[in-house]
Formats: sequence, C-alpha cells, structure tokens
Amino acid sequence: MSETLTALIVEDNPSDFELIVHELHRSGYAARCQRVEREEEYRAALQTGPDIILADYSTPSFSAPEALKLLSESGMEIPFIVLTGTATEETVVECMKKGAADYLLKDRLVRLGPAVSRALEEGELRRQQGQTEAALRKSNERFQHLVETTKVIPCELDLATRQFTYVGPQAVTMLGYCLEEWYKEGFWDAHVVLRDPKALTTPESNLNVSATDHDFTCRMLSKEGRAIHLHCVGRRMSSHSGATILRGFMMDITELRAMEDALARHAEDLARSNAELQQFASVASHDLQEPLRMVSFYTQLLAKRYQGKLDADADEFIGYVLEGAKRMAHLIKHLLEYSRVSARKPELAPIDCEEIFRLSVENLKVALTEANATVTHDPLPSITGDASQLGQLLQNLIGNAIKYRSPERLPKIHVSVQEKPGEWLFAVSDNGIGIEPQYFETIFVIFQQLHGRNKYPGSGVGLATCRRIVERHRGRIWVDSKPGEGSMFYFTIPRSCEYVE
Ligand code: ADP
Repeated sequence: MSETLTALIVEDNPSDFELIVHELHRSGYAARCQRVEREEEYRAALQTGPDIILADYSTPSFSAPEALKLLSESGMEIPFIVLTGTATEETVVECMKKGAADYLLKDRLVRLGPAVSRALEEGELRRQQGQTEAALRKSNERFQHLVETTKVIPCELDLATRQFTYVGPQAVTMLGYCLEEWYKEGFWDAHVVLRDPKALTTPESNLNVSATDHDFTCRMLSKEGRAIHLHCVGRRMSSHSGATILRGFMMDITELRAMEDALARHAEDLARSNAELQQFASVASHDLQEPLRMVSFYTQLLAKRYQGKLDADADEFIGYVLEGAKRMAHLIKHLLEYSRVSARKPELAPIDCEEIFRLSVENLKVALTEANATVTHDPLPSITGDASQLGQLLQNLIGNAIKYRSPERLPKIHVSVQEKPGEWLFAVSDNGIGIEPQYFETIFVIFQQLHGRNKYPGSGVGLATCRRIVERHRGRIWVDSKPGEGSMFYFTIPRSCEYVE
C-alpha cells in the first residue's frame, strides 16, 4: 500500500520535477507534489505544512540554503533534502549545518525513496523529542514556580564550606539579603546561629533522625535587624561535583516561636500562681485552725459559764459566735481537703472500686440512714488510681446526692460504670432536686453554691475538689441534670493513668 505524502519541491526545471515525482511514486509514495521556483511561492507553500521539502541546490532565482534559512525562521520542523547536480564538499557541509536532513545527487535519484523515508523517520523522532522536551520544560517551570513562590525557602548548602549553592528567590524578600549575599563565602557563619551547634555536624546524635536527615532550628538576623527563626529540614547527599551538600528547605517559624514563648510564659505564670494559691490555701487553712480552735474553746467556755447569767442579748451574741466558729471550722476542713488533693504526692496503685464504694457508703452511713436513702451500684472494676482520692470523690458525689435530695421522694442513688476505649466512664445518678443547665459549669468552681446556707449547709468546695481529683488522674468530670427530676454526675478515669502535677 502506498504512503501518502505532500512534498514541496523547489525546482526550476520541469523535467527534473517530473523525474522526482516519478521516483517518489516508484518508491511507493502516493505523493502530492507542488513545484515552486521563487521565494514568494515557497513562503506561501510552506504555510500549507508539507511533509517534506526537496530543493534544488541552486535555481536561478532561489537556492536551497535560502529555503533552509526561511524554514528555520518559520520555526517549522519539516525534513529538508537538498538535490544537486554536482556536490562539492562545501555545499554539503553548508546545507547540513543549516539543518538539511540529507543531500542527493540528481543522477542518483534512485536513492530518493530511502532518503525520504529516513528523513521522515528522523523528523518524526525529532518532533517527538521536541514535544517531550517542551513538556519537561513546562513541568520544570511549574515546579520551580511552585517551589520558589511559597514561604518555604528551598536551599542547598555545601557542608564542607558552609556556602549556599542554591537559595530560592523568596529568601530575598523574606530576609532582605540579595542572592549575591546569600551565595557569598562566609554568609552562613556570619548570619546563622544554630540552636543546637551540633545540628549540622553530628546529625546522628539527633534522636529519631536517620544519619542523612537533618532537622534543626536556627536564628538569623534579617537585613533590617529582625530576629528570624528558621526551621530547616534537609537531606545530606552528594552533589554532581562530588561535594557533600545539604538539600532541603528553610521555613520561617518566627511567629510560631513567639506564640510558643508566650504560651510557655503563660504556663509558667499559671503554674506559679497555682503553686502560690495552693500554698496560700494550705497555709491559711492550717494556720487558721489553731486560732479558730482557741476561739471555739473559749466561746464554749464562755457559753457554759455565763449562759443565762448575763442578759438575753449576751446569750444571743454568744450563740452567733459559736455558730460562726462552727461554720468556719467546716469551711477550713473542706479547704484543707481541697489543698491536700493538690499538694499531696499521689499514690498510684491498682485499686478495687467495689472496696472504695463500700468504704464511702460506710462513711456516709448516718446521713444515708437519716435520709432513708438507697445506694446501688453496677459491678465495679479494678482500676489504677489513688485510693484515698477516688474514695473522697465518690463520697463527695454520693454525699451531695443525699444532701440535695427531693423532699417529694425517697433518695435513690446509683453508681454505674462503662468501659470505653482507653478509659472508664463512671456515673453517679440521683433522683434529687436537679440543677438548672446554666449552672452545669459553675458548680465545679470553688466556693460556688446555688442555694442559701440556711437551706443546705455546705462550703462550695466539694465539687471543686472532685474536679481537681479527676483532673489529676487525667480524666474529665461533668454533670447532666433535669431540674426537679435528678442529676447524673459523670467522670472518666483513663485505663493507664499518670498524675498531672
Ligand atoms: P456544697 O458544699 O455547697 O455542697 P459542692 O461543691 O459540693 O458544694 O456543690 C456545689 C453546688 O452544686 C451545691 O451548692 C449545689 O447547689 C450543687 N449540687 C451539687 N451536687 C448536687 C446534686 N447531686 N444535686 C443537685 N445539686 C447539686
């Protein structure tokens, strides 16, 4: 089957043209051939995009070298074969230099077929190669654009000389130094301060980092004198020239560092004020106990000795003092409990919650009996925690469930537990007076009470102590309640728990 081909033939001699066309047909090409003699004709014919150009080396008005030049100026990739009557070496060299695919002597036209097919094949190959190169160039440009327009600076550092061998252009805007300065010898040493001076020399010492990986932070002064913190990640490798280089990225973490510093400062302040508060609570509650004992003792003595001997007002006043002293003793006791939870070194051990429950109920026996309350519980697990603190937690919650019972029904309290991923979820439910949703958070704050002291005696410290205990076990505590129906206090204890200081 013959191959179709459009051929542009630059030839002044019609019979030579016929011969060429004949030869093409003979070689199996169904060729559509166009003959041109002059430059204008050639230019116009080029626009039709022929598959191949065959050109006589020199016609009276136009020559093959001129045709080649025009072809290359057009940017088109069309195989070009020079036909010549006599070929000197210079002629051949000149044409091949200008981009001809081949040349052929006119008296050897029998070779035209193979020459054309070879030129077409080579042309196709060149076209494909051009396409691949263009695609590669485009992808390179895209990649470079992507890398060089982010706020992450790509870079390459010669580890022996500590000289940058490549720095992304964003380094200029981000730090103010021009690229020539970055590439200067000594720039790294003069401007970069490593947080860990060994970060570059002994990467092996960085835990979790393989010998070739580097991950470190450093500080640089920008051209305007601002301290910029950089996080550098890179890989050590050999460059083409055999030098050991670090290739990677530098990221500006100045803002992050400032936030971290502020956070650390706040945490420090918080820890300090917490410690001071703890100390204050502990000292105050300790030291107040002694004078309070004196006040209580002598007021009781006063009451015993002079009750009914002075006037009625005096009896009333003594009564107030006694009541006040009692209340203060109660407050101090609870405050002391609260400060102890924070101050005492925790004792983590496996504990049996059934036993904790039993002891808590035992301690609340009087209150439970008075209120005619029933306390039930799920089978309770063994967990890790501080037995005395968790006992106090349970006792506070059950105690509150008795205290805040409904006058309309007998108190029913139930302790349940569910195993959740990584933690135990406990719940203490009651059928008491309940809590309005807007107080679900505030009741856990120290000294927060929802009712008048006359109605329910208390200090407002119990739930704050519960929260402190749970938080020190790395758990959470919250409440859910329906006013008038009852409350459900939830708390979690992680299965493997560590204490929070
Ligand atoms: P208090 O010493 O006053 O009991 P708590 O810190 O133990 O202090 O409790 C704070 C407030 O939360 C209480 O004053 C009470 O109003 C409310 N509260 C606590 N437990 C319950 C409960 N089981 N039912 C209803 N209200 C409760």
